[in-house]
Amino acid sequence: MPEVFQNYIDGKWVDSRGGATFENRNPADWDDLIGVFPKSTVEDVDEAVAAAKAAFDAWRLTPAPKRGDILRRVGDLMVERKDEIATEMTREMGKIKAETLGDVQEGIDTAYYAATEGRRMFGHTAPSELPNKMNISFRIPIGVAGIITPWNFPMAIPTWKIFPALVCGNTVVFKPASYTPRTATTLVRILEEAGVPAGVVNLVHGGGSVVGNRIVEHPDIRLISFTGSSEVGKRISAGASETLKRVSLELGGKNAQIVMPDANMELALDGVLWGAFGTTGQRCTATSRLILHKDIHDSFVESLVERASKLRLGYGNDQGVDVGPCVSEAQRNTVHEYVEIGKNEGASLVLGGEFATDGDLAKGWFYKPTIFVDVSRDMRIAREEIFGPVLSVLKVDSLDEAIDVLNDSVYGLSSSIYTQDVNGAFRAMRDIEAGITYINGPTIGAEAHMPFGGVKETGNGHREGGWTVYEFFSEWKVVYVDFSGKLQRAQIDNY
Ligand code: NAP
Ligand code: MG
Repeated sequence: MPEVFQNYIDGKWVDSRGGATFENRNPADWDDLIGVFPKSTVEDVDEAVAAAKAAFDAWRLTPAPKRGDILRRVGDLMVERKDEIATEMTREMGKIKAETLGDVQEGIDTAYYAATEGRRMFGHTAPSELPNKMNISFRIPIGVAGIITPWNFPMAIPTWKIFPALVCGNTVVFKPASYTPRTATTLVRILEEAGVPAGVVNLVHGGGSVVGNRIVEHPDIRLISFTGSSEVGKRISAGASETLKRVSLELGGKNAQIVMPDANMELALDGVLWGAFGTTGQRCTATSRLILHKDIHDSFVESLVERASKLRLGYGNDQGVDVGPCVSEAQRNTVHEYVEIGKNEGASLVLGGEFATDGDLAKGWFYKPTIFVDVSRDMRIAREEIFGPVLSVLKVDSLDEAIDVLNDSVYGLSSSIYTQDVNGAFRAMRDIEAGITYINGPTIGAEAHMPFGGVKETGNGHREGGWTVYEFFSEWKVVYVDFSGKLQRAQIDNY
């Protein structure tokens, strides 16, 4: 019998009212059934929202440093269980153990940051334009927050959202991705164990079109933090406008790495291998375009193909594995469709381009690391997010052209340039259209205490991470204290 998991509503672990369930399987071995989870209904969401709404007042009035103390215990528990959580996560979504350990560490970093932020939450005071009057401002919670997350960072991304939401004094209804309900359950169990009161965090498993959609339309949810595809993000933005919710969207990317002739080539090679094929290319910040200066193009491609062909595919919990599977059969099919599109558009396939099915790989959704050269900027493989181990190489004549090609995208999340030329590096920092630019580092590697997010269609202008996410999860309250004992009219009595 498979293990049966439940929703968490108002401090109790419960089945869906409708009784339906869905399966969660290991993408490296589809015969390995992890468990069954509730396929929740609109009624389940409504119960969770009611619980979160009822819990809001007591949580709002709990001092922020006390809320932070609970988050510190959450971090401590994650440290204790780091290895176990990572092993489970690899089994659930496929990326290798070194990366799932990093995913948990990001959650730990976020917890400890949140714990200390409970003692900051700074407001501003400013002088009044009138005598004997004081102007102060501070941040207040907003209410019930709907949290909708993807499967590729199943611990880190929920923590980026839930921890600041809680420290700011909001209560939460959390809908994790259907591919990663196990890790989400682990996170909520830890929150419960650390002492988060009943109703403050509620977990509702189930599909995006039912559970996610109800969160978007529910009038008692006042804000939504979403990470996922641009397609779903646009739908959420439109839906949430009906009830004028505050919405934070972190969406897709088509991130590029530039390599100039003066770069350290070994470093640039290490960077692109990690950026393009880490997490099987299933990162919002994955390197999916490589922009090479013509002077080093051929030699760089030769070394890259040689190194990429040696990457070892396999189950991410086994030693010595570099690249895990795609998360699902559907995702692998999408990757393969893009490979066919690339070939038909006239790009040259120099590595991979097919399912990996040798031995045990046949049990999972493995795809060979794939490289296209002779890619031009108008091809779909240079423009659309593939979310798999596929790298498109573009050749340019100059730094100006490199930046122009990099910027020729609807997305603007991460970016990278390898160069030793300080002038070129500073021009790139200024002119690249992206939320994040790495100098002599790959497109992946964000740190939890810095703002994270992108420009253009990667999002809607908010940032997660660091101090910026606390702006999203709180509102400003301004208080004017007049101790003059008389009516003082601003703009009138003093001018
Ligand atoms: P997705 O299909 O957009 O799903 C994301 C979440 O939205 C899931 O929980 C999903 O539920 C839910 N959802 C689906 N349809 C919905 C609807 N109509 N209303 C409300 N919620 C709905 O994305 P994904 O496939 O999980 O993740 C890959 C995408 O995420 C990529 O585009 C990637 O670039 C992006 N991403 C962005 C960042 C960033 O910070 N910019 C980080 C990581 C990933 P189900 O799982 O039940 O379908
Ligand atoms: Mg999906």
